[in-house]
Amino acid sequence: SVPLSFFSGIGAGSRKGILFKGGIALEALKNVKVVVMDKTGTITKGNFVVQTVSPSGSMKKEELLALAAACETASTHPIGISILAAARDQSLSEETPRDLAEIPGKGIRAVTSAGVLLCGNRKLLEENQVDLAGFKEDSGSTMVLLAKDGVYAGSISISDTIKPEASAAIASLKKMGIQTAMLTGDSEAAANAVASSTGIDRVYAKLLPGDKLDLLQNLRKEAGNAMFVGDGINDAPVLAGADVGAAMGSGADAAIEAADVVYMTSSMEAIPESIRIAKKTGAIAT
Ligand code: ADP
Ligand code: MG
Repeated sequence: SVPLSFFSGIGAGSRKGILFKGGIALEALKNVKVVVMDKTGTITKGNFVVQTVSPSGSMKKEELLALAAACETASTHPIGISILAAARDQSLSEETPRDLAEIPGKGIRAVTSAGVLLCGNRKLLEENQVDLAGFKEDSGSTMVLLAKDGVYAGSISISDTIKPEASAAIASLKKMGIQTAMLTGDSEAAANAVASSTGIDRVYAKLLPGDKLDLLQNLRKEAGNAMFVGDGINDAPVLAGADVGAAMGSGADAAIEAADVVYMTSSMEAIPESIRIAKKTGAIAT
């Protein structure tokens, strides 16, 4: 077929809700060999909903949820927002912690009248020497664990929804001969559940924000030009480090700013579509 001019490439993109921030993005997209995606908000909707509250020992469900909500009072993370919503649904009283610290990729540490609280993933509690003998993983869900004064207090399982077009988009990429990979800070169980139902080739779980960039560089060495698709605040360094960085339009401002391509509709179909448009676009006239 007749190649599109550079400007028609930009135009074809905009009609599909794809914003190319210049010709470099289109050029780099043509030769993408591996598409590396963040899980939350990219492959899943990022609409977390609390499913089960499982306190340990004699603690009541309401008490555990209230402790978690106190930790998340200032949270902008989708996990934190879902915990706050569940606590409000049950009209639980909210305490504002005396001291609050976010530990990126792990969770929150808060000092409240109830004690020193830890609210986050397994890694956070383990590195604070909390005994997790009483913890049971709920396969496929994102698990938030709580500890009070160094003692395990229970867990909350939270579910997210895979975007309905995810499998078809992954299949399109594979048909184009492009490898697919998913990176996440979430647990292996939650990551594998998403990968197996969408057909993604490779999965890397339990990553810290800094690990994501290292992994991307390794995949790049092995497979060739790498594209990263993400939406989070923590994703900006990876977006900037990829040959092509793409952000979901629903994502954080920092991610949208750092990206070369923005998918305004947040649909995963836009990923193969943007590569198709780039391949049809002729060389930039200079
Ligand atoms: P991703 O977007 O890949 O899930 P994040 O870096 O945002 O990665 O988070 C990684 C993990 O850290 C989450 O899956 C969760 O276990 C934990 N976490 C991060 N922020 C919070 C929070 N506010 N409350 C509880 N857990 C959190
Ligand atoms: Mg994220």
